[in-house]
Amino acid sequence: MSPCTDAIVIGAGPVGLFQVFQLGLLGLKAELIDVLPEAGGQCVALYPEKPIYDVPGVPVCTGRELTRQLLAQAAPFLPPDADTGRPCNLHLGHLVSEVSALPEGGYRVATAQGLVRRARALFIAAGAGAFVPKTLALPGLDAAPNVHHHLPDGTPPGWVGRHLIVSGGGDEALQAVIDIAGTNASHRPARLSLLHRRDQFQADPALDAAVRTLIAQGQVDLIVGMPSASQISPQGTLSALDLLGADGQTRTQPLDHLLIRQGMSPKLGALTQWGMALERKQVAVSPSTFESSLPQVYAVGDINTYPGKKRLLLCGFHEATLAAHAAAAALRPDAPQHLLYTTTSPLLHERLGLL
Ligand SMILES: Cc1cc2nc3c(=O)[nH]c(=O)nc-3n(C[C@H](O)[C@H](O)[C@H](O)COP(=O)(O)OP(=O)(O)OC[C@H]3O[C@@H](n4cnc5c(N)ncnc54)[C@H](O)[C@@H]3O)c2cc1C
Repeated sequence: MSPCTDAIVIGAGPVGLFQVFQLGLLGLKAELIDVLPEAGGQCVALYPEKPIYDVPGVPVCTGRELTRQLLAQAAPFLPPDADTGRPCNLHLGHLVSEVSALPEGGYRVATAQGLVRRARALFIAAGAGAFVPKTLALPGLDAAPNVHHHLPDGTPPGWVGRHLIVSGGGDEALQAVIDIAGTNASHRPARLSLLHRRDQFQADPALDAAVRTLIAQGQVDLIVGMPSASQISPQGTLSALDLLGADGQTRTQPLDHLLIRQGMSPKLGALTQWGMALERKQVAVSPSTFESSLPQVYAVGDINTYPGKKRLLLCGFHEATLAAHAAAAALRPDAPQHLLYTTTSPLLHERLGLL
């Protein structure tokens, strides 16, 4: 059976990251889980390069920069694994599918990928739901091992030396093409194509111009057509797409790997079955503790609702702070609940690894 930790935070968006930091300051250990392959939630999935102007003390930063800073701030509480160097309590690529109360108190959390963890308190920082990539509605694609949605995490991808088609015409697809074309030869496909339904993109002009240059240089070829059918081999891999052209003709396009980059959409999914009271698909919470209708289950950030709720980063950070204090009081009722300042407290300096 997995050991019982203090807290599990579901969602590694900006609020989930700050939740881990606040719990750490109070001496509570947390495990952090997200379905995405990287932390940052909406900031990274929806607007990584767009500016944010209303984070206190930060006149301007992009979604990606804010995420980087939140990760750096939470680093004392996301210790690296000795082998991989990655935080051992940050579980990315895991969709939380089950939450159940334990008879001895606390909760059991299981992911669709097989991770099981137990904790005395839960923090639901699930935003608008788990981000899942939009895909092509063609049979067999979901299970095909050569169909991808995310860029590789540093290890050589399966498409090295093969023909990779990137599908999409927005920022995500164009950025992926630029990134893949720019990787070193050991990570590059032998042939790189961009597939879009027409010869016009809906992307940032700078990305559009960069991809047009790659096409003109012959580093990328543009395939125009609307995928209408998938050809799946007996082994379950995708071998070709049938593409409907503007001339009404269908052509078969063979490929080795397909990377679908058509954006993300959030899905609440199993969260609605976990037993917390919901109001219009948001978790109803107390505005002083951010506890839900279940004991020691707190909901913070965009996922919660209470009178006056605003879906802003600043509000989520405030909620995470008060929820951490409420959980600390509930989990350690006999411990003194003094408010300590990071500026002056030796205890907080010790927890931050500064001493
Ligand atoms: C275009 C845009 C611009 C914005 N600009 C601003 C701005 O300028 N200022 C501002 O204050 N706010 C802004 N916001 C709002 C801000 O981004 C959100 O308030 C903030 O991201 C909420 O953070 P969160 O951590 O609560 O949720 P999210 O950022 O949505 O993160 C939730 C995370 O939980 C994960 N998750 C959910 N369910 C599960 C599950 N079952 N298993 C595993 N993982 C799960 C998701 O994959 C996701 O990564 C903007 C939003 C958008 C879309």
